[in-house]
Amino acid sequence: MAEFDVDLFVIGGGSGGVRAARIAANYGAKVMVAEEYRMGGTCVIRGCVPKKLFVIGSHVHQEIEDAAGFGWSIGQVSFDWATLVANKDKEIARLEGAYTSNVEKSGARIVKTRAVLEDAHTVRLATGEKVTAKYILIATGGAPNHGPAVPGIEHVISSNEAFHLKELPKRIVIQGGGYIALEFAGIFAGFGSDVTVVYRGDSVLRGFDEDVRKHVRAEMEKRGITIITGCTVAKVDKHGRDFTTHLSSGSSIASDQVMIAIGRHPNVRGLGLEAAGVAINPANGGIQVDGWSKTSVDNIYAVGDVTHRTNLTPVAIREGHAFADTVFGKRPVQVDHATIPTAVFSQPEVGTVGLTEEEARAQYSHVDIYKTDFRPIKATMSGRDTRVLMKIVVDGSSDRVLGCHIVGDAAAEITQAVAIAVKMKATKADFDATVALHPTASEELVTMRTPTARHVRQAAE
Ligand code: FAD
Ligand code: NDP
Repeated sequence: MAEFDVDLFVIGGGSGGVRAARIAANYGAKVMVAEEYRMGGTCVIRGCVPKKLFVIGSHVHQEIEDAAGFGWSIGQVSFDWATLVANKDKEIARLEGAYTSNVEKSGARIVKTRAVLEDAHTVRLATGEKVTAKYILIATGGAPNHGPAVPGIEHVISSNEAFHLKELPKRIVIQGGGYIALEFAGIFAGFGSDVTVVYRGDSVLRGFDEDVRKHVRAEMEKRGITIITGCTVAKVDKHGRDFTTHLSSGSSIASDQVMIAIGRHPNVRGLGLEAAGVAINPANGGIQVDGWSKTSVDNIYAVGDVTHRTNLTPVAIREGHAFADTVFGKRPVQVDHATIPTAVFSQPEVGTVGLTEEEARAQYSHVDIYKTDFRPIKATMSGRDTRVLMKIVVDGSSDRVLGCHIVGDAAAEITQAVAIAVKMKATKADFDATVALHPTASEELVTMRTPTARHVRQAAE
C-alpha cells in the first residue's frame, strides 16, 4: 500500500497552484488540488483578466473623442454597464472551465472545497475528509486589505466587488495610489464616472521611477481624474444610496461608491500553518520560503502571492512550474526574481523593467539618463492634450541598460519586448545599433543619442 494518498496536494487553484499541479501530474505524480472558490484564482476570476477587459472597454470612450479630428462624426453613443458585466462574466466562466479541464486532462484531481493543514503530511478538507500527501504546495494567494477600521469602513468596496457592481457609479472615491487604485480610476473615468483618488503620500505609484510618478499623475489629471494627495479616508457616512467620505484633511466628498485599494495580504489565516510547523516571514507576513520555494518544513512548499514576494501572475506561474520541475521532474530550477517587467494598466499605461533612476544612482557610481517626453502622432490630429514619457537608465561605466520606463499608449506591450533586451544585459550601444521602426512611439528608445542627465558619484576620499 502507498505510504500517502497522493504524491502532491495543492491548496489553491490559482495561477501558481494550477501550473504546479499540471506539471507535476505530467511528470507522473498523483496530484489533488483543492479550490474553495473558483478555479483560475484571482488573476482569472477577479484580477488581471476581468480588469484588462474593463480597461479595454473603458478606452473606447477616448477613441470616440479622438475620432473627430480624423473626420469621423459619431452620433449619439451610449454605454450599458450591465452588458459589459454580463459579457465579462461569460468570458470568465469560459476561462474557469478551461482551467478546470486543463487540470483534469493532466490527470490531477480537483476537489472544490477549502483545505487546511492538519500536520506536515495531512490536509483536512471542509468536508472533514483527510488526505495524506508526500508533498504539499500552499498556493492560496492573497486578499484585499481593508485598512484601518475607520468608521463606516463596512460600506466601502474592494476590487472584488468592483467587478460585480449592479450599476456604474456616477461618482466614485478610490483610496490608494498603487496598481489597483490607478487602474480602476482609469476604468471608471473611461466609462464616464466622476473619479476622485485619495492617496496618503505626495505622489502616486511609490517605488516607480520619479519621472513616471509625476507624468502619470499629470496625465490622469488631464483626463479629468481628481487626485488628492497627502490625506486618507477618515470616515465614510452612508445615507440611502449616497456616501460622504470625510478626509483626514477635514474636507469631504459626496459619491455613489467608495472603493479601497490599499494593498493585499497573503492568505495565511486559519490554514493550520502552526500545526504543520510552517513559518511566516516576519518581514512581510507571507509564508517564509527559500530560493526553491521550500518552507520551513522539508516537504511543504509555497508559491505565488501567499509568499508575498513579487505579487504578479507570471511570477506565481514560474514559481509553481519551477517547484514541479525541481521536486517531480528531477530538474532543479530556481526562479530569478530580478528584472521582472511590470505594467500598470492605468490610462495612460505605465510599463517598466529594471532599475529606476533612483535605484540605479544608489547602486552605480556613474548613471546616464536618456529621457524624452513628446506628443504622440495621434494627438497631432485628435487634438488631445497628452504626452508620452520614455526613459532609459544606463550604467555609464559599462554602457549596460539598467532600466526602461514608459508612460503612454501600448507601454505594457513595448515593455514586454524591451524586457528581453534588458534581461540579456543589452548595452545602450546595442539599442543604438538597432534601426528605428518608423513611425512609432517606441522608435524613441533607439534614437535618443545624448544623455539628458549624467550622474557621477565621486569615490569617497
Ligand atoms: P491566486 O490566483 O489568488 O489563487 C489562490 C487560490 O487559492 C484562490 O482561487 C483561492 O480561492 C484559493 N484558496 C485560498 N485559500 C484556500 C484554501 N484554504 N483552500 C482551498 N482554496 C483556497 N498580476 C499581473 O501579473 N498582471 C495584472 O494585470 C494583474 N492585475 C490584477 C488586478 C487585480 C484587481 C488583482 C487583485 C490582482 C492582479 N494581479 C495582476 C495579481 C495576480 O492576480 C496575482 O499575483 C496572482 O493571481 C497570484 O496567483 P496565486 O496562484 O499566488 O494566487
Ligand atoms: P499596491 O501595493 O500597489 O498599492 C497600495 C496603495 O495603498 C499604495 O498607494 C499605498 O500607499 C496605499 N496604502 C497602503 N496602506 C494604506 C493605508 N493604511 N491607508 C491609506 N493608504 C494605504 O496595492 P494594490 O492594492 O493596488 O495592489 C496589490 C498588488 O496586486 C500590487 O502590488 C500588485 O502586486 C498586484 N497587482 C498587479 C497589477 C498589474 O500587474 N497590473 C494590477 C493590480 C494588482 P504607499 O505607497 O504610501 O505605501
